[in-house]
Order: sequence, then C-alpha cells, then structure tokens
Amino acid sequence: MRLRKATVSRVSVLAATCLCLLASCAPPEPDVSAEEVLGTNCAISLYDRHDDALFSRLFSRLREIEAHMSANRDDSELAAVNRAAGVSAVSVSEDTFWVTRTALAYAAKTGGAFDPTIGPLVKLWGIGTDEPRLPSRPDISAALALIDYREVTLDETRRSIRLGRAGMRLDLGAIAKGYAADEMVRMLREAGQKRAIVDLGGNIYALGEKSRGQPWRVGVQDPRQERHVYSGVARVRSTSLVTSGGYERFAVINGKRYHHIFDTKTGYPVDSGLLGVTIICPSSIDADALSTSVFALGAERGLALAASIDPAIGVILFDSTDEISMNEAARRAFTPVPR
Ligand code: ADP
Ligand code: MG
Repeated sequence: MRLRKATVSRVSVLAATCLCLLASCAPPEPDVSAEEVLGTNCAISLYDRHDDALFSRLFSRLREIEAHMSANRDDSELAAVNRAAGVSAVSVSEDTFWVTRTALAYAAKTGGAFDPTIGPLVKLWGIGTDEPRLPSRPDISAALALIDYREVTLDETRRSIRLGRAGMRLDLGAIAKGYAADEMVRMLREAGQKRAIVDLGGNIYALGEKSRGQPWRVGVQDPRQERHVYSGVARVRSTSLVTSGGYERFAVINGKRYHHIFDTKTGYPVDSGLLGVTIICPSSIDADALSTSVFALGAERGLALAASIDPAIGVILFDSTDEISMNEAARRAFTPVPR
C-alpha cells in the first residue's frame, strides 16, 4: 500500500481538495470566492457575468446550512435534536428535515453501513479534532449500542426529529456537503449562471460546460499517491463528483492510522479493502451519501447499491492494487492516466 508515512502522532485534517479542476483547461479568469464554512474550505468559481451580491448570497446560504446541520456547534438545530435525545421531538428547518430523511433512506438501503446516528462513535474517536483518541473496547461497545437509524422518528406534519434514546447523536457529516453543493447549484441556476464550479472541500459540482461543446475536465486524486497526483481525468457536464476515503481525514495514534469513516458493526474505522471511492452523478447529495456508503460497503456491495439506485451513476474504486475499477457509467466519463 502506498501511503504517505506519518511518523508523528497528530491529526491530519487536510483542507485541500481530492478532486480538482484542471486549471490548464479551464476558461480564463473565473471570478472566485472562498470561505471556511461547513468545516472545510469552500470555493465557488463563476465564469459568467453576475451581480455583485451573488457571492454573498451563496456564502450566507452555506453558513445557514452549517448553522442548521453542524454536529460540532452547540447552537445548531442538530445539536438541539441531539440534546433532546430520549426526551422529546425537536422541530427543525426544511433543509435539516430533508437531509435527515435522505440520510435515513441511505441507512435503510445500506442495511445500516451508512448510518447518520453514528454521532456517539464520531465523538468518541475525535478523528479530525485536536484530540483524537483510541477508545477502550467497553467505550466502543457503549457507543455502538446507541447507533441505530431505526430509532429516529420523523414527523412530517410537525417537521420534527426525535431520537429514541438518551445519548443518541445525529451526525450528517457524510451527506450535508452534498446537499449544500446542490443548493449552490440551485441558486446559481436561479441567478442565470450557466457555468460555474462549486468546490466544497473536494465535494465538486461542475455546472454547465467549460465552453460550447467542451466538457469540464476534473482531476481525480489518486488515494494511493502523494497529494495532487491524479489518477485520471473526468470529462463532465452539470454533474457532481464526490470522493470518500480513509486518506483525507485521519489520525495517527501509537504509530497506526485511523480514519474517519466508521464500521457500524465493529466501531472501528471501516476496513472494506477500499482506499477511496469517487462517485459521479448529477445530484450531489446522492453522490456524497453514496461515496461514504460504497466506501463502507466495499466494492461488490457498493457497486450493486449504486446500480440499484441508477445505473447512470459513475463509481470509481481504488484499492491497494495498481488497478482502478469502475463501472460502465464511470468509464464513459473518466480516463485514467497510466501509472
Ligand atoms: P468527508 O470528510 O469528505 O465529508 P464523507 O462524506 O465520507 O467524507 O463523510 C465522513 C463523515 O461521515 C465522518 O467525518 C462522520 O462525520 C460521518 N460518518 C463516519 N462514518 C459514517 C457511517 N458509517 N455512516 C454515516 N456517516 C458516517
Ligand atoms: Mg459522503
């Protein structure tokens, strides 16, 4: 396995993106604005003329989504839902309700391999925080006992969420950025923008095409290689590309790497044989939920899941061999570079 050697015990939260627009082939001089929001660096590049207030509307919407769905802020809607676990239902905004409902649908589709009630485990490990830790087995068992998407009750009329037992915790980290990217695209379209790149910490949406008849070319990072080494290029129009992997956000504890996507059966970071998964599909919320789901399920079950949702969804899989596997839909968009 070609992983960068990390000898010091520290958390590596790498903000740089794993998917990247190939600068050489972008049309000249987009208007770019970037901000730290949703726990990552969010950059939006506009290629059409736009009114001055557009960026500020887009970024305030991103801040609003963070205020609703952050698992790390005490003042978010999600924090209120988590505080009321086992006690009462909490009414939330339309977006928190819809993202939670979508996350629960993915939990059902993956048999709980993807589970938005993963919160107690995420908190226990602290991967991506300043204090990651290797929890004791009893602590892991206690956290696992609180994870079960079937104990989340949604009430459509009151638009409320109730967690069945005290200590349960929703975490929408695997899906919220995808929703946010879709929201950016909705607002961009509303504002008449035809060409734009939305990059929410590597969760990409390439809107429209680069120029007439020319698709965008997006480099997909190779998780087996140094940062910014591309495994290939995806040629896309109006679609999202989202990657999940164990190589972006991890902690090194006692010399061993632990990443941030957890196995809901063992309580340890997922070991599905995959190093990374890239999903290509026009809905970014689905791409985000699927990239985490496929990574957690492993190659075979992951490919079957994507195919059952829509065979047009592109799936690229990286494991520790030199091969890159992909389905038919990905093959149409993605050209690997020879290694
Ligand atoms: P990224 O860090 O790029 O957003 P993902 O979309 O794959 O990567 O989301 C990872 C996040 O999802 C974790 O940081 C955690 O908050 C949450 N998570 C971890 N394991 C699971 C799981 N099994 N099911 C659902 N969410 C998970
Ligand atoms: Mg995800």
